[in-house]
Amino acid sequence: MDLHTMGSSGLKVSALGLGCNNFGGRLDEAGSVKVVHACLDAGVTLFDTADIYGEGRSEEILGRALGARRDDVVVATKFSGGESPYLAGASRKVVMAACEGSLRRLGTDYSDLYYQHFFDPDTPVAETLSALDDLVRAGKVRYVATSNFAGWQIAEAEHVARAAGWSRPIACQSEWSLLRRGIESEVVPACAAYGVGLVPYFPLASGLLTGKYRRGEPPPPGTRLANSALFASWATTAVYDVVDSLDAVAHQYGRSLLQISVGWLAAQPVVPSVLVGATKPEQVVANAEAVSVRLTAEELAAVSDVTAPPPGAFEPARRR
Ligand code: NAP
Repeated sequence: MDLHTMGSSGLKVSALGLGCNNFGGRLDEAGSVKVVHACLDAGVTLFDTADIYGEGRSEEILGRALGARRDDVVVATKFSGGESPYLAGASRKVVMAACEGSLRRLGTDYSDLYYQHFFDPDTPVAETLSALDDLVRAGKVRYVATSNFAGWQIAEAEHVARAAGWSRPIACQSEWSLLRRGIESEVVPACAAYGVGLVPYFPLASGLLTGKYRRGEPPPPGTRLANSALFASWATTAVYDVVDSLDAVAHQYGRSLLQISVGWLAAQPVVPSVLVGATKPEQVVANAEAVSVRLTAEELAAVSDVTAPPPGAFEPARRR
């Protein structure tokens, strides 16, 4: 498994990261432990959770599953997604309380990467960054990061932290896949400009980009789309049209849909690690193999062309 530096920091992360949002929800502890151990065996070193996943159970399970291997990996967690007024948003009060809660549940005394899960329009950016910097100086957090930020919010956080001499966000987590490419207009260039590692989430569009869901057929039992009406609603005719076209390109080059979906993201220079969730060890093995595939320039262009935004879609509107 390749290791890459996260943005312009010195933090090394594996090319495949494990998303742990299934833990303590759809996936029980025994199943989650098997997935974590399969990742450790495959050389995955980035484990991503959040205080809200499984209402805290994801952090607890991840901490127990890593056990004595904790210092060998990068543990990333997130704050600001809670529902109570003092666990939602990004005020100093939330940052401090959420961090203590996460460390307790993870059974560790530090988090390697601490993400602000969502932008908070009610809290000045300087208040959040100064609280995060205090956590870094107290040894409770190694690096800070953002998630679901717009391009201008990434730029603002960078400049505020830089001017004050605080820890700057080294990563941004955003939804990015061959089916969802909206971040390419602003977020991707902002991350590239500021040396922020872009960590894509929902890279498989919840499994739609693995080929296991087929038009006109019910989702296989036990899968995410079989268990969630919300996720099942993603499987529209338009999505299947794109999936079929991607499948045809993959077939043309002797690749699988999974390989081109993960491989296309892994080939983006701004991406140090592709964050994939898994419910079975076999999925981890397949995803680790997919992330190590080096798509050629011709393959990347062919894959990208299928879902490329129309010409001009990302250009700023011009004054007449
Ligand atoms: P995803 O990676 O697009 O999809 C993961 C799902 O795809 C798995 O649960 C599994 O579904 C299926 N899958 C994975 N590998 C497979 C394979 N090789 N073959 C067949 N099926 C496979 O979406 P995600 O896990 O939700 O997102 C990744 C991570 O990003 C999350 O775990 C979380 O850590 C993070 N995330 C962050 C945010 C944010 O706001 N920052 C939001 C969402 C997610 P089955 O359950 O059907 O087996």
